[in-house]
Amino acid sequence: LFLKKYDVIVIGGGHAGTEASSASARMGRKTLLVTQNKNSIGFLSCNPAIGGIGKGHLVKEIDALGGLMAKISDRSGIQFRILNSKKGPAVRSTRAQIDRNLYGIETKKILKNQKNLFIMEGEVTDILIKNEIVIGINVNLKDIFYAKSVILTTGTFLGGKIFVGEKYSEGGRMNSFSSKFLSDKLKEFSKFHGRLKTGTPPRLDLKSINLSKLQIQKGDIPVPFFSFINEKTEHPRQILCHITHTNEKTHSIIRSNISKSSMYNGLIKGIGPQYCPSIEDKVVKFAHRTSHQIFLEPESLSTTTIYPNGISTSFPLSIQKKIVTSIYGLEKAKILVPGYAVEYDFFDPRNLKLTLESKVIKGLFFAGQINGTTGYEEAASQGLLAGLNAALYAVDLDGWFPRRDQAYLGVLVDDLCTKGVTEPYRMFTSRAEYRLLLREDNADIRLTKIGKKLGLIDLVRWKKYNEKMLLIDFEKNRLKNIVINSDSKESADLEKILNKKLKKNSTGIDLLKRQEINYELLTSLKYFSPNIQNKKVSEQIEIQLKYQGYIKRQQKEISKQLYYETMSLPINFDYKKIRSLSNEVIDKLNRRKPMTLGQASRISGITPAAISILLINFKRYI
Ligand code: FAD
Repeated sequence: LFLKKYDVIVIGGGHAGTEASSASARMGRKTLLVTQNKNSIGFLSCNPAIGGIGKGHLVKEIDALGGLMAKISDRSGIQFRILNSKKGPAVRSTRAQIDRNLYGIETKKILKNQKNLFIMEGEVTDILIKNEIVIGINVNLKDIFYAKSVILTTGTFLGGKIFVGEKYSEGGRMNSFSSKFLSDKLKEFSKFHGRLKTGTPPRLDLKSINLSKLQIQKGDIPVPFFSFINEKTEHPRQILCHITHTNEKTHSIIRSNISKSSMYNGLIKGIGPQYCPSIEDKVVKFAHRTSHQIFLEPESLSTTTIYPNGISTSFPLSIQKKIVTSIYGLEKAKILVPGYAVEYDFFDPRNLKLTLESKVIKGLFFAGQINGTTGYEEAASQGLLAGLNAALYAVDLDGWFPRRDQAYLGVLVDDLCTKGVTEPYRMFTSRAEYRLLLREDNADIRLTKIGKKLGLIDLVRWKKYNEKMLLIDFEKNRLKNIVINSDSKESADLEKILNKKLKKNSTGIDLLKRQEINYELLTSLKYFSPNIQNKKVSEQIEIQLKYQGYIKRQQKEISKQLYYETMSLPINFDYKKIRSLSNEVIDKLNRRKPMTLGQASRISGITPAAISILLINFKRYI
């Protein structure tokens, strides 16, 4: 039995939908999650892997704001690695291979136990709007439910079409119906939309693969984890992955059959992600390469399904078989599920405010793949943002969004809402200009306090966060107060580590700033012991000290720009009223309706001169 009226309704139980509904419910709003198939809540449509470069940062930020993805990944991850571990802390990212069954089970468990959250199975067939304000939804063409705010997280399902060779069918992904009614409704008020595409490789049977011939890829030990509140790991059994490669024979099969791929036979019109090409695209576009790497990744501890990462394709099944069996170690491999491509509608995110609310329909929020992104992490983080803002909107409170210098999530929404997308958008560390501040390791320090204010954080997390902050302060103070004299007998031990003479008296803090020494070495000296046993705390102290100079420089730059960055611009203003702006600038500002001066400055074609004019005109209002 369902109520007729809610504070927030979330449409879709994918990665955006689960975070959105959980965030809204955690903030105390009566929340309804409506999804086509309750069983597929938390389903990983493609590679069962979470994190990676840039994406791992988003997962940590979701966790810092009390979201689900990190916790669920820790409970279902079967191989964890820190990517870029030899590089600086800014670009280190956690990645986990996930057991797809466990991920679904854990997601459903958490949502089921979430207070204020009601879960309904059904297809949303209409969004009810009155005077440009959302008022509710229609489910299965018959049942009406009302809410102050509604969040759309329909992923690849709007107008979804699946392609395998010359055949295609309607569907949001394999074995799922597409969502037909909503797309037309959205097109009525959201003029700018388009088609994007993504693809997935065939799944193979482990029993038919000769792993003994292949290179092994191990996970890290100790096993890393995503969530800041996991002290001892909750991971299931860890597994190995394997590596193989395509070869000249594979490429020759692909070249001679290229016209049979849906990507090349004209069936697919949507644009796919350039950085994640299908195997046919790799062979055509990088013709000089004679081999491409393939990671063989187990999908679960309880099945024999292998995900061959690197050969996503839309060839007919007969060609897929030839491609697969041409690869070393896969000569006898059996395909369990064919690879395919999916094409779907997305809606231009430049029609959204930075809170992910529509600029046209009040109270209607968009999150996830529908906004032109790809990836579970991108979807989940948008879901969290839309969820918290829909919850704020439902009780007439102002929205919140992170700035570009506060979070990768800030970079993500700013990029989407300011520049829009020309291909499926995924996160990379290179998209952030303040990388040294936006590290995985300090996501909690950047965001947990804000999450607490918003009502997203529970007491357990809050307590752990405060304990960590106290420990950091305590240990820094302790090290600051230990001074080693350059001509003392203690300095001799230290000099062995430094490999040079200590020139002046130094505190523990001074020493930790040096590249030759780390926390473990320093505190192994009796003079600086005892060390604290919390690795996260000591790592944090070390990074803060070693990169202090660079961090301060970035912070200075940010505070200089902050005034302009956060200066609000009126959303319904007609820029024709400012005569000194050029027609091109007026047109762009009227179309995009930036929310802040900072956002206006990032619209292509908006010149520094135009920004100065805006500054003069709007300064008097603030
Ligand atoms: P989804 O996870 O798609 O969830 C949408 C949910 O909305 C579904 O539960 C659906 O049933 C529900 N829904 C839709 N319409 C309605 C309606 N009208 N009423 C009720 N419920 C509705 N990402 C990567 O990072 N790397 C990849 O290699 C990759 N490859 C992919 C390959 C394929 C074939 C597919 C389908 C996706 C791929 N993705 C990949 C993308 C990744 O799956 C998505 O980015 C992510 O799942 C998007 O999350 P979401 O919450 O926006 O939507």
